[in-house]
Amino acid sequence: MLLELTRPELVRTGNLIDGRWSGAAEDGRYLVINPANGERFAEVPDSTAVDAHAATDAAARALPAWRATLPRERAAILRRWHALILANLEDLARIMSTEQGKPLAEARGEVHYGASYVEWFAEEGPRVYGDIIPQQQRGKRMSAVKEPIGIVAAVTPWNFPLAMIARKIAPALAVGCTVVAKPAEDTPLTALALAQLALEAGVPCGVLNMISASRDQGVAAVGDWLADARVRKITFTGSTAVGKHLARASADTLKKLSLELGGNAPFIVFEDADLDAAIEGLMASKFRNGGQTCVCPNRVYVQAGVYDAFARKLGERVAALKVGPATDDSAQIGPMINARAVEKIARHVDDALSHGARVLTGGRKLDALGPNYYAPTVLLDAKEGMVVCCEETFGPVVPLFSFEREEDVIRAANDTPYGLAAYFYTRDVRRIHRVSAQLEAGVIGANEGAVASAAAPFGGVKESGYGREGSRYGLDDYLSVKYVCEGGLD
Ligand code: NAD
Repeated sequence: MLLELTRPELVRTGNLIDGRWSGAAEDGRYLVINPANGERFAEVPDSTAVDAHAATDAAARALPAWRATLPRERAAILRRWHALILANLEDLARIMSTEQGKPLAEARGEVHYGASYVEWFAEEGPRVYGDIIPQQQRGKRMSAVKEPIGIVAAVTPWNFPLAMIARKIAPALAVGCTVVAKPAEDTPLTALALAQLALEAGVPCGVLNMISASRDQGVAAVGDWLADARVRKITFTGSTAVGKHLARASADTLKKLSLELGGNAPFIVFEDADLDAAIEGLMASKFRNGGQTCVCPNRVYVQAGVYDAFARKLGERVAALKVGPATDDSAQIGPMINARAVEKIARHVDDALSHGARVLTGGRKLDALGPNYYAPTVLLDAKEGMVVCCEETFGPVVPLFSFEREEDVIRAANDTPYGLAAYFYTRDVRRIHRVSAQLEAGVIGANEGAVASAAAPFGGVKESGYGREGSRYGLDDYLSVKYVCEGGLD
């Protein structure tokens, strides 16, 4: 049984506000569904703006004492949180697979990945240096001091229920901010379990507050944070459309924003590439989480001379992928998150077929498994103008485009409003540098499909957003720089 947990109490079905678990103020609740079978998993608070406001009140009360703690004291708490996440890895993975659908092996991988951000920021927090500015005038001393920005609101998507929220909360806490957080409506339980472990690690009351809400109530709850001048920063991961809305709606109180938004990643295979390595890279990056990943290759460009050979090898690998629920240990691809996601994938594939693409493998729903399954798919003869070329499919579909010249593929790869990740395979070191420099993306994989690391700056350009998560840059979004000018020193 997926939900046989060592610690069943990690399934928290309340809001965490001011260190206490409680229902929504207006008593609303909503169901969280297991996407593998449509069954009820749990019922959680359907929080409203009233709960969001109470969370901000708690974060405001906790802020002065938390920002006054020493970086090393905060780091010690984060290290304990990291250890607790790993100690409860199996339970967290099972909760995650049940609400999100990803295979257990992937869920375990995500727990490790999310935990690595907590560890990383426990280490980076004590290294937030300021500057003594070289003297400009006699009798004056100028310095730049980095301070926590204040209350941070974190809003996250369903595709990585643990990692996306961990990599926001950890840097915020590390530098002395307090947090109000709302995980995605489909996947609140992993995040709430994470919050429980934060309490156990010693995060003081009010420093981390988390509320769950259905889609519509969640919009209203986040709306309260958008309008509240005490909330100084919004950190958001999700779709570009919602990111733009948050940017507009936070204008009145001019919050600092970091936006990790949608992508439309190109994956380019040049004729001089190691084709087997390119296939491995594509399988790893495309089919992670069933293709529901913001950095998933969405468009695969293969140079004409190797197109047929590449397609043949890829088709065999994709056709062999095992699809099934997380209860099946051999499953490599789980269900999509919900019926809307499956409909979107089917619409993209149908559109491609009606414009001349051909199915090499897949291309259909797998209704025998349940309503939310779609077969891993490879489409041949993909062309510009098809929806798969310009919209994020967010599913297990590989459209194969053909190209002749390097300059053509770079133009095609950049011909999108998005700019999150881009991948290419070549054995020519000069081409690696040339193409890396020209691709408009925040993250580049050159002969590499697995780019994620807590040590690396992750984020996009263009309409994929701004701000960076992970690495030493990941703290900047939670800090403001104060300039102190001391006079009369001569
Ligand atoms: P989404 O934008 O629909 O929702 C994300 C979060 O925003 C959820 O918590 C949701 O409840 C909330 N939300 C939705 N509408 C809102 C509104 N009007 N006001 C306030 N909050 C609102 O995205 P999703 O479908 O959950 O996630 C998929 C998207 O996330 C994809 O586009 C994917 O590329 C992107 N994503 C980006 C990254 C990244 O790091 N760049 C990582 C993962 C996912």
